[in-house]
Amino acid sequence: MEEIKAGIDLGTTNSAVAVIGDDGKPFIVVNGDGNRITPSVVGADSGNLVVGDNAKDLQSIGCIDTAAFFKRHMGDANFRVQLDGETYDAAGLSALLLRRLVDDAQERLGKRIGSVVVTVPAYYRSTEREAVLRACREAGIVAQGLIAEPSAAAYAYGLAEEEPGKTLLVYDFGGGTFDVTVARVGEDEIRVLGCDGDHHLGGKDFDDALANLMVDLLCAECGVDSSEANLTESESAMLAVQAEQVKRQLSSRESVRVPVCVAGMRGTVEVRRGDFEGATMHLVRKSMDVVDRLMVRLGLLWAHIDAVVPVGGMTRMPMIAEALESRFHQKPCGGVNPDEAVALGAAIRANLPPRCLLAGNAAAPDLRIDGREDGPLLTLAGAKRLIDVTAHAMGMVAESPDRTRYVNSEIIPRDAEIPASEARTYALRVPPTGGELEVYVLQGSYDRVLDNDVCGKYIVRGIEREPGGESLVEVEYRYNENAIIEVEARQPNRGTALTVERVPVEADLSRFDGVPPELTQTVAGAVPDIYLLFDVSGSMSGNPLAKAKSAMRAFVDEFPQGAARIGVIFFSDKNQVVQEPTTDYDAVRAAIGKAKADAFDLGYGNEADPLGYCYDNVLSMLGVPSMRGETAAGLFKRVAMRAKGVFSDRQDRYTCLVILTDGVWYHQGWSRANARKLAAEGVDIVAVGFGSADQTFLRDIATKDDYAALVGVNALQETFTKIGRALASGEEPRVA
Ligand code: AMP
Repeated sequence: MEEIKAGIDLGTTNSAVAVIGDDGKPFIVVNGDGNRITPSVVGADSGNLVVGDNAKDLQSIGCIDTAAFFKRHMGDANFRVQLDGETYDAAGLSALLLRRLVDDAQERLGKRIGSVVVTVPAYYRSTEREAVLRACREAGIVAQGLIAEPSAAAYAYGLAEEEPGKTLLVYDFGGGTFDVTVARVGEDEIRVLGCDGDHHLGGKDFDDALANLMVDLLCAECGVDSSEANLTESESAMLAVQAEQVKRQLSSRESVRVPVCVAGMRGTVEVRRGDFEGATMHLVRKSMDVVDRLMVRLGLLWAHIDAVVPVGGMTRMPMIAEALESRFHQKPCGGVNPDEAVALGAAIRANLPPRCLLAGNAAAPDLRIDGREDGPLLTLAGAKRLIDVTAHAMGMVAESPDRTRYVNSEIIPRDAEIPASEARTYALRVPPTGGELEVYVLQGSYDRVLDNDVCGKYIVRGIEREPGGESLVEVEYRYNENAIIEVEARQPNRGTALTVERVPVEADLSRFDGVPPELTQTVAGAVPDIYLLFDVSGSMSGNPLAKAKSAMRAFVDEFPQGAARIGVIFFSDKNQVVQEPTTDYDAVRAAIGKAKADAFDLGYGNEADPLGYCYDNVLSMLGVPSMRGETAAGLFKRVAMRAKGVFSDRQDRYTCLVILTDGVWYHQGWSRANARKLAAEGVDIVAVGFGSADQTFLRDIATKDDYAALVGVNALQETFTKIGRALASGEEPRVA
């Protein structure tokens, strides 16, 4: 059977397969159900695993034995789904999907797919990319390589035979992720200048907001308080599918009437495009903020952009096209189907001769389909070699020069051309029997080690002692063509390569925070000061907000009169204390009642860093001077001073911040840093998330791992009651 190469767009919501036809042009291969895209959904039906359209059908009738949006969890060791008695992680689920895509395409084409190029979000880190390659292996598919989705789209739009010398902005809004890339199309190459993105922003967030809006409309019609509407898991799953369909319809219609049947209510609601746009505008703005951030970083103005390339189904929404047009003063590019561009680009990439793909290859690319000397020429003006860049800086854990803390020592900068490599030499004291070196590889640009992704731990073994007792070891870090990190090591004086073994990264890396353990102590005391930190961003609107308010009131109810002083802080794009800590619990309940999106002009997004705000304001209210902008060295000194009792006024005060959030904070790095600073001041942090909150981040900012929890919206009340009860009785506020 003839063997060919395919491109696969492994999408969050939908996936697609493309190959190159005999005319040299890429085309989408329809699946076994005759559709051009296959839902990225896997399910179990009476003992059988089903994938794609059938699984989506199961989901739409409320079957909870289905898994969708798993791409968002790629590389997450904690993500597990049970299907038909088997446990799968995101790579395992993706393997099932990939196998189905390839089987369907092979059957349709009557040809064997020998290898594939799979697309990944440009912003994927090394661990996520490795998980995709593992999915291919588990599916028994040969992965020729990975390609960043926007880069693939740049290939596909090259079909438009643009004259060279143009700068493209690829705005890629998919079901689960948002990416933006700026690329320069040259005579014979596409050079990526830089990319940025938000992993937790996608069509699903719009679906969730629309589902909430639909419940609110139904409640209004039935005269029910929306905080009383408790949806079952299966109702939520069905509603999500319905909301996604309504969202699509609203791209071409001003309003949609839809029957809704949840929480014992039944009715037909009319969803107007304007209302939907009002409930989701903050999400579009969030994407534009990422675009602005990239433009600033690259030193570009909109006037420097020649074309805006829309990618991903979400760009079909008029609101997004308008937002792009209002900035760019031109309509986004057309001509390529935005849902299909990525798969088409991957197919082109899969079929280019390998030497076209190498950076630094000055030869004009041979546009003949690879491996088919007599085959047709690719007829694509856009089939150019691609020069991609690193989306993240890469560093390693090192000690600061004054040896007081651990830092991220950057080795390969962000936006470096891929493949990139850099070596560093270290002098190590080695015992006569030989030694080992531990290398922790970090992805990210934050100074504090734990604000970065610790994406691998390697042990360099068999280091031989050199004369004098000190051995030189050269460690090399590489981003390979797939933007996956590789580590190698040598002993240059001996001319030998050393074995490097990858080992699991231990769960507790808190030692890298470098504060000596004897100096960190929690201050426990008499009447606690408790702050409720309440997320009032746009995504909370409707049912989640109503549930959150009830949960917070239940929290307050747990405190016997005078047991604690309770304050309330709202945050969204900004922060505000809406109630100073008080024992007047009616006042606290009234403050909680004021929560709504954009309350007190705080905005709709997640720009705020409430922990920084508390560090600056709350501590000073409690008699500790503000330390904004303090250096790490200064902070260490303060911690040491506090240990010696210098700030004795706080020694018997216990302060606890209890956070409720439903989203991913924009400035996570700052918040993590401020959480550490607050911890150093003996302030406890409890972090409860739901919706699209990020569990790892919640754990990072919480004082202890079990002070953080990601729960369903219906479990908020129980969770806050539990925290309130613990704090009221002087126990630790454990939630996990
Ligand atoms: P992708 O990951 O590129 O497949 O993007 C899929 C996302 O685009 C999903 O959230 C879809 O609901 C959304 N989508 C697809 N078509 C439309 C449309 N016509 N209007 C609005 N959203 C759409």
